[in-house]
Amino acid sequence: MKRWNSWGSENTQSDAKIGPAAVALLKQLVGEGQCLDDATMEQVVARVPASRLPEHRLISLDPEVRLRHARGQSLPDWLALRSGEVGVFPDGVAFPENAQEVRELLNFAREQNVSVIPYGGGTSVVGHINPLEGERPVLTVAMSRMDQLMALDKDSQIATFGAGTPGPLVESQLKEQGYTLGHYPQSWEFATVGGWVASRSSGQQSLRYGRIEQLFAGGSFETLQGTLELPTIPASSAGPDIREMVLGSEGRMGIISDVKVRVSPIAEKETFNVVFFPSWDAGLEAVRKLAQQRIQLSMIRLSNSVETQTHLSMADNREEIAMLEEHLTAKGAGDERVMMTYGLTGSEAQYQSAQAFALAISAEFGGVDTGTLLGDHWAGNRFKGPYLREPLWQAGYLVDTMETAVKWADVTTTLDAIEGAIANALSDEDEKVHVYTHLSHVYGQGCSLYSTYLFRPGTSYAEAYKHWQKLKAAGAEQIVKCGGTISHQHGVGYDHKQYLPAEKGELGIAAIQSLCELFDPEQRMNPGKLL
Ligand SMILES: Cc1cc2nc3c(=O)[nH]c(=O)nc-3n(C[C@H](O)[C@H](O)[C@H](O)COP(=O)(O)OP(=O)(O)OC[C@H]3O[C@@H](n4cnc5c(N)ncnc54)[C@H](O)[C@@H]3O)c2cc1C
Repeated sequence: MKRWNSWGSENTQSDAKIGPAAVALLKQLVGEGQCLDDATMEQVVARVPASRLPEHRLISLDPEVRLRHARGQSLPDWLALRSGEVGVFPDGVAFPENAQEVRELLNFAREQNVSVIPYGGGTSVVGHINPLEGERPVLTVAMSRMDQLMALDKDSQIATFGAGTPGPLVESQLKEQGYTLGHYPQSWEFATVGGWVASRSSGQQSLRYGRIEQLFAGGSFETLQGTLELPTIPASSAGPDIREMVLGSEGRMGIISDVKVRVSPIAEKETFNVVFFPSWDAGLEAVRKLAQQRIQLSMIRLSNSVETQTHLSMADNREEIAMLEEHLTAKGAGDERVMMTYGLTGSEAQYQSAQAFALAISAEFGGVDTGTLLGDHWAGNRFKGPYLREPLWQAGYLVDTMETAVKWADVTTTLDAIEGAIANALSDEDEKVHVYTHLSHVYGQGCSLYSTYLFRPGTSYAEAYKHWQKLKAAGAEQIVKCGGTISHQHGVGYDHKQYLPAEKGELGIAAIQSLCELFDPEQRMNPGKLL
């Protein structure tokens, strides 16, 4: 079971820690940590109000179950759970086991005048699954019991999953038959295939396997107006693609009950390699060339110099890092060095060819190849980053992220604008913020930018929330100003909805609104999110 107020499973002890080097660096960068008291689960459960729902065989009214489904993983969610000030709870949580039961729950919602929140893994970082204050009781529909591979068509390479299947079960069930989906968002351990579709997610190896939009082949969508079957025709010129209406629907139109995805045979060979470049501009040019020449890599990530230096400085194996830095400096990648991690995935021949191109293009821009050692480290820790939130919190620090995607021509100005705004967002309080960025998910026309920022909460939860609000607004305003998307992969939910009109325009918003109203004329589905 997922932990109620932190990342990870309750049955496994996380080994995530921040070592003395990291604590010393944080102190120097943003100041002495500030710890706040945590509420206990018993205290928070005691605050769960009586349910407004009648009994139903599929619905749990248990206060602890309601608490466990009340919030996602955003920073405001973290603060709400750690302080115990959760506010609104769902009135009940249903656990359907099949599409028939999903339909039964939607009928119940209509008959009892109830709002419905579809819930996948609850890993949203933008308030997607949080119930809002309102007259109607709120029913959260948790898809966790619909977690099976239902069919695998090997000829067409299409797998059908229950929408509540989380990443590890997607891959383990496919692996038994020699296949993979290859969709690895950092939240993979808990996020579900239905949640990926509903929030348009992107996995770390999107360069090879595609974003969820490319992987989503069809499935069944249960709405208050009936069932929508989405056929898996490989390509069609027959009008607008209905799949695109379900992608990113964020629970506003209905509940995806089963998902058909495009799978691949497991690749023969895979490694992750690291190259350092002497400067951001050199690294950026190399990455753009790799993307635009369509070199068959499975991922590219380029950390800017602050991110590169932060990672190197926080590592506890100081001697090895010093040797590496010396070597890089000698080879021309000095203080302004930036780190590129790239994935090589495919048959032996594809692997060899992609590696040769990657090394040749990197060398053109002064890249220093360090082989797979650091890449292995990245691969071994690729899902561990979120666990660091807990030791950072224990040390008195908060961490959050912000992401967008922009055209190649706008990458550096956007990065500078976002980092500058975030770094200065708390300067009126004399508070420092440490911010760094990487570029990932590359396309022919541009890439995503992903900034991480560390800051101190202040002396109360109210202050911590205020800090987050200022930081979020500062970064988001720059994204809008620079013409980026308000989200490349996290979705809109509650926290981004005010920025959506800038991206979609008035008519675009009206079109989305009318689609929601068509499927859900009484606005029962996840009200207050997306729009
Ligand atoms: C540590 C961390 C790292 C992350 N890294 C990434 C990343 O690398 N890439 C990325 O894309 N995202 C990432 N995310 C964001 C998040 O994991 C994604 O948005 C993910 O797709 C959400 O899936 P979920 O199953 O948890 O959905 P939930 O959070 O449960 O729900 C998200 C939205 O989808 C709707 N929904 C869920 N299931 C269904 C369904 N069956 N039918 C209809 N609507 C449904 C919900 O109503 C809600 O609006 C990260 C989040 C965290 C906490």
